[in-house]
Amino acid sequence: MLRFAPSPTGDMHIGDLRVAILNYLIGQQRKQNFIVRIEDTDKLRNIEGKDTEIMQILEKFALTHHSVSHQSENLHIHQTLAIRLLEEGKAFVCTCTTEQLELDREEAKKNKMAYHYSGQCFDINKNELSQLKENGIPFVIRIKKPEHEIIIHDLIKGDIHTDPNAVDSFVILRADSTPTYNFACACDDMLSGISFIVRGEDHLPNTPKQEHIKMLLGYDQEITYAHLPVILHTEGNKMSKHDDASSVKWMFEEGFIPDAIINYLLLLGYAQAPKEIFTLPEAIAWFNIKNISNASVKFDIDKLRFINREHLKLMDDKQLSTLFGFADESIGKLAKLYLGEVSTVRGLESK
Ligand code: GLU
Ligand code: ZN
Repeated sequence: MLRFAPSPTGDMHIGDLRVAILNYLIGQQRKQNFIVRIEDTDKLRNIEGKDTEIMQILEKFALTHHSVSHQSENLHIHQTLAIRLLEEGKAFVCTCTTEQLELDREEAKKNKMAYHYSGQCFDINKNELSQLKENGIPFVIRIKKPEHEIIIHDLIKGDIHTDPNAVDSFVILRADSTPTYNFACACDDMLSGISFIVRGEDHLPNTPKQEHIKMLLGYDQEITYAHLPVILHTEGNKMSKHDDASSVKWMFEEGFIPDAIINYLLLLGYAQAPKEIFTLPEAIAWFNIKNISNASVKFDIDKLRFINREHLKLMDDKQLSTLFGFADESIGKLAKLYLGEVSTVRGLESK
């Protein structure tokens, strides 16, 4: 089972779209379902309507999914699973104050050491929980740090070993009873039976924590990972979700068509493509995620323009009319001329 887990916190970025395309593609290759999980647990950052927008974009690219859910629907399950870990002695209650934790952090910084949780609350008995509640003492639940190193198998990065101290005894349930991001994500992956995770490499620091959670929850399905290198601007700095020129919406406004965008994104960092211009169904036959290079890639708009023109040439007037929602086929011809021109002229302007 594969999943695409976007956060509804902004416009969909080409990096997110690339993740969605690859999840869909691998699902097709392995004949496994591909589900969408909207990660909406960060209430402050959620933007109303972005979930619908994401789903509309997936539809435009024909990335059909098996089901769609919102992470917040599982809140009670996250809480129940945290309590279960507590009862099994795999997690513990922590009453350390923010001030205390801040002091410990500063101390570590002063000594040029990496910060680790002090272990102060390791011995609080779980039976004291009701007393804490009665007395209105705030507490969080922390998972116990692993006893052995965590090993991640990543098709792009290779095997990654993480020391137990680097994973640390981290918070899984906050004082307001909401799950932390890593906990919600790991629980949901377990509940959906996820076996293959493709996502951006910005999530690499989260992966050992999520693996540790799944292990303690008893999820023994081995997970294959593919963490994708970041997409950089032509100038070499990382593209952020806030750059207009990297949102899918912007690409549509520029006249880029879905087939061309898919083609372009699948070629990013992929050295062994048997041909340059292809469709997604064609790529399903030969694409191997292992062939994606571990080096970061640059967003090359001229290359995208070239690919766009090639795809426009391949489309007949009827397909183009449908693409732009015109009833009259002759408009397809005009659209083709226009888009060919636009992407050529814009290409020249940017030189
Ligand atoms: N919600 C995360 C994001 O949009 C993705 C989490 C994941 O794929 O594990 O970056
Ligand atoms: Zn504590």
